[in-house]
Amino acid sequence: MLRIASLTLREISLTLKEPFQISSGTTTQRRILLVEIEGAAGARAWGECTAGEIPNYGPETIDTAWIAIRDWVAPRVLGHTWGGPEEIQPALEINFRGHNMAKAAVEMAAWALAAEMEGISLSEKLGGTRDRIRVGISLGIQKSPAALVEKARAALDRGYRKIKIKIKPGADVAYVRAVRKALGSDAPLMADANNAYTLETAESLEELDDLGLMMIEQPLAWDDLLRHAELQKRLQTPICLDESITSADRAEDMIALGAGKIINIKPGRVGGFLQSIAIHDVCAAHGIPVWCGGMLESGVGRAHNVALASLPNFTVPGDISPSERYWDEDIVDPEWTMDREGWIEVPVEKPGIGVAVDQEHVEDVTVRREIIRLQ
Ligand SMILES: [Mg+2]
Repeated sequence: MLRIASLTLREISLTLKEPFQISSGTTTQRRILLVEIEGAAGARAWGECTAGEIPNYGPETIDTAWIAIRDWVAPRVLGHTWGGPEEIQPALEINFRGHNMAKAAVEMAAWALAAEMEGISLSEKLGGTRDRIRVGISLGIQKSPAALVEKARAALDRGYRKIKIKIKPGADVAYVRAVRKALGSDAPLMADANNAYTLETAESLEELDDLGLMMIEQPLAWDDLLRHAELQKRLQTPICLDESITSADRAEDMIALGAGKIINIKPGRVGGFLQSIAIHDVCAAHGIPVWCGGMLESGVGRAHNVALASLPNFTVPGDISPSERYWDEDIVDPEWTMDREGWIEVPVEKPGIGVAVDQEHVEDVTVRREIIRLQ
């Protein structure tokens, strides 16, 4: 049984150590929406909404998510007696379209709360089977191929097991080729276009085919499947879909159409953990590997990603860098760390998300807050 008595919405502002540029824009300051929920006997748990400041990844923003949680998610979730967190996402889908990141923030906090109350780790609650996960890095678009090579070499030396290179037309083949040449044929490289190409402009992607990439992520439109299927026929390199996969049904569509061979699961994008697990299972049944993507999360969202990535079919290193990659000081204690071989420990011995939220630090960086309780 799971009852949620109150929900606190909180916006914090964190400065990235370095600006992060993708094909659709640059992020310097992260406005992050956190939710804190309160269960029976004062138990509390946190969730993080992965929506950004502007709708350049998906249609949601931190501001639309705030309204969606306050006006539509919270009234459905608060005060109801749930059999378990797996009942929440289906209930939020009834006559309530979209807003997956808003729904996910609360749904994922509910899974964390359930784990906390049962005294087990979030990883165990989700069905995780690993006590450490291998991780990769996502490198934003750099000023020159030489600058990218330097970053990629440092990442490989640091221990990262997958190096993802953000690309866009004009910053693609020459950049990736320079990295391949500098780091050698064994370096685990991939590219992510964040929708920057069309079938008509995809010739440069065919040139990438010779560079031995693990995959090319989401080259075409953010909600497309058919054109990706067309493009996959032209490429040897596996296409990995990110933005286009918003549910387990869409994952089945991808497989049926041949629109991709790998999926990047971001729990926020798909409405939370229930759908993430469903996508994981569909892919496992079809021999499709999955990995966990990143959305420049704070240590709270990172905790959720670490737990999810401990499931068995997460066989490709995730974009789950340690805290130090993004923040001078994370909001969790202990911070997330990675060893020299690219492993992050899953806190399987600790209940819930396995790290404590640093309340004082969170208060310092809070810019607005709203507490929603049952009347
Ligand atoms: Mg992506």
